[in-house]
Amino acid sequence: MTASKSGTIFVLSSPSGAGKTTLTKKLEKNNTNFVISISHTTRKARPGEVNGKDYYFVNEQEFNSLVENNNFYEFAKIFGNYYGTLKKPVIKHLSEGKDVLFDIDWQGTQQLKKISNLSLVTFFIVPPNIEVLKKRLLNRHKGQESLIKPRMMKFHEELSHWKEYDYVVVNDDLEICYTKILKIITNTKNGINEKQDLSVIEKKVKELFS
Ligand code: ADP
Ligand code: 5GP
Repeated sequence: MTASKSGTIFVLSSPSGAGKTTLTKKLEKNNTNFVISISHTTRKARPGEVNGKDYYFVNEQEFNSLVENNNFYEFAKIFGNYYGTLKKPVIKHLSEGKDVLFDIDWQGTQQLKKISNLSLVTFFIVPPNIEVLKKRLLNRHKGQESLIKPRMMKFHEELSHWKEYDYVVVNDDLEICYTKILKIITNTKNGINEKQDLSVIEKKVKELFS
């Protein structure tokens, strides 16, 4: 019997509203070898979100107990709530040869990069411009406009972490962005590591900072 090859963790991070959750879900839906890592969070569920599917919604006491028992690969406080990724389900998926998609922030990515022996590829998603980002946030948080301002205010701080990632991809047209990410993932799985033209992406990031 041949041992199956273990999977890879693909991380998608971005400033809030740039589209990483949409892209992660699309990758999983269209590719049977991908599973999404379902995080634990202390934030309240948004309309339409399902416990155990989008997140495991827990209270702070439950979250703290998972931290104390060293159950998380990584965890972080974001917009006043805690988020974390359990080790156990990820290890199981990887050992079965599945690739695991992480929709997590830069703090979690920094923690994962410190863990040795993890097969890890990281993507940073950026919006085409700030106006589009605001529109997307307004659309996602209809009737809860108070949630937009803190996210817009955090934009530049979150954007400043782009250099810590293996690939930076602009999410303008969803299909184009999705196809780019899938191509990089497929190439990586086939042992082809194409380098990104940093000068192009650096110009884009500078525009977003201005
Ligand atoms: P994030 O997970 O990065 O915070 P989401 O995936 O929730 O962002 O996307 C924010 C909003 O923008 C959602 O309402 C989503 O449907 C929408 N969206 C994402 N990508 C695109 C795109 N390329 N074009 C138009 N709308 C998009
Ligand atoms: P939201 O509340 O909008 O779903 O997510 C807010 C932020 O938390 C996003 O940047 C998302 O990627 C991040 N996030 C979600 N789950 C985790 C996690 O398990 N760990 C970390 N570090 N960040 C997470």
